[in-house]
Amino acid sequence: MSPKYSIIVPIYNEAETLPELYRRLCRESDRLEESVEIIFVDDGSQDGSRTLIRQFFQEDFRVCYLCFARNFGHQIAVTAGLNFARGEAIVILDGDLQDPPELISQLVAQWQAGYQVVYAQRLLRRQESRFKRWSAFIFYRLLRYLASVDIPADTGDFCLLDRQVVEILNAMPERNRYLRGLRAWVGFRQTAVTFSRDRRYAGKAKYTLSKSLALAVNSIVSFSKVPLRLATYLGLLSGLLSMVMAVLVLYWRLVEPNSRLTGLATILVALFFLGAVQLVSIGILGEYIGRIYEEVKGRPLYTLADLGGFEFSLDSHRDRQFF
Ligand code: UDP
Ligand code: MG
Repeated sequence: MSPKYSIIVPIYNEAETLPELYRRLCRESDRLEESVEIIFVDDGSQDGSRTLIRQFFQEDFRVCYLCFARNFGHQIAVTAGLNFARGEAIVILDGDLQDPPELISQLVAQWQAGYQVVYAQRLLRRQESRFKRWSAFIFYRLLRYLASVDIPADTGDFCLLDRQVVEILNAMPERNRYLRGLRAWVGFRQTAVTFSRDRRYAGKAKYTLSKSLALAVNSIVSFSKVPLRLATYLGLLSGLLSMVMAVLVLYWRLVEPNSRLTGLATILVALFFLGAVQLVSIGILGEYIGRIYEEVKGRPLYTLADLGGFEFSLDSHRDRQFF
């Protein structure tokens, strides 16, 4: 029999946090008074998280796990969890206790009130560096401005999804998974529950600057065609500027034949300007072509090394890894 609720927790080197996380998740699951499955998705941890997860699995029938064969990244880990979750309502939450498990009952209450997507929106970011807070603030607003779907600001992956929504997400063939965007894209009745984000319980943030940057570029490229259009605008602008330049040069030639500005400097400025515009445009094109290449290759999103708690074995469901 499938459980009523699934809780998906991506884990990447969170051994220090796991015991406390598990304790709080259990307390919260008991409070739900319905059948719950807790799916730990181990994203190629190297620190003992895997052993701990297997231990929970052995002691607790509610725990299931998926182990990736290497680190595939947070969004892919959540995607794998969604592929395997069996509940009627599916909760996604970070494994570092920045998303308090105690909020789950509030998410569930909204789901029971008829919302298919309930996302947690953060009000405060305690103990995060000023750089992170500011970059996040600017990024979310930029994304809102650029994206063709209305992605709510300051929402993370912490949310509850109805089975219906999860089926749609699972059926989506795209490989570049920016879940917050996809979640907004599907529509349905959505609502927010606000909370103040806790500090990380232990350990360092697993999202390095380069990973965060990649996620930001990914989200914009996946959800907006504005950058592509930008190349056209830049081209038009530089065309206009070169016309102005031509008029100026002509003026100098005729009125001030001895002006130095007509010489090398003018040519160089124009050259560099055009060069920059062209390179930026090619770069933007490249971002989109790269995405097309990724999609066309059609590699599986992740490889599983091990799994437990699901009614099939790794071999019998190898094909589940390919969608
Ligand atoms: N995570 C993951 N794979 C990664 C990076 C992170 O599964 O490659 C998990 C991590 O264990 C945590 C969650 O994603 O449960 C959020 O990561 P983190 O706290 O580093 O992100 P931040 O809160 O800084 O955005
Ligand atoms: Mg975190």
